[in-house]
Amino acid sequence: MESPETQARIIEAIRRKVPVIGPCMVCRSSDFQLVDGIVKIAVQPTTQRGVVLGGPTLPSAALVCQTCGNTIFLNLIVLGLLDLAGGEAAPAPEKEIGQSDTVANPQEPLR
Ligand SMILES: [Zn+2]
Repeated sequence: MESPETQARIIEAIRRKVPVIGPCMVCRSSDFQLVDGIVKIAVQPTTQRGVVLGGPTLPSAALVCQTCGNTIFLNLIVLGLLDLAGGEAAPAPEKEIGQSDTVANPQEPLR
């Protein structure tokens, strides 16, 4: 699906931010594989019923544990890969939120 160059860029960006990925939080395996392509997680207000197509997304790279299937999503904007996110991506974060915050917001991606 993706070119080998694009996959290599994603892997390089992840390694730049996270030189060593820790063990899976579910099964403790260290065998993760990058999904071929990106994942766009839809962001919509809590008042919205149903699925909104074409709304803001959190463009992400996905790493899947090859033992248990646990999937980790890493925001492409935070990884510095805005160009891979396409024109519909939410703007880069201007404000950080704490780890205890659990509300997804396109302006404040979770860390
Ligand atoms: Zn696992």
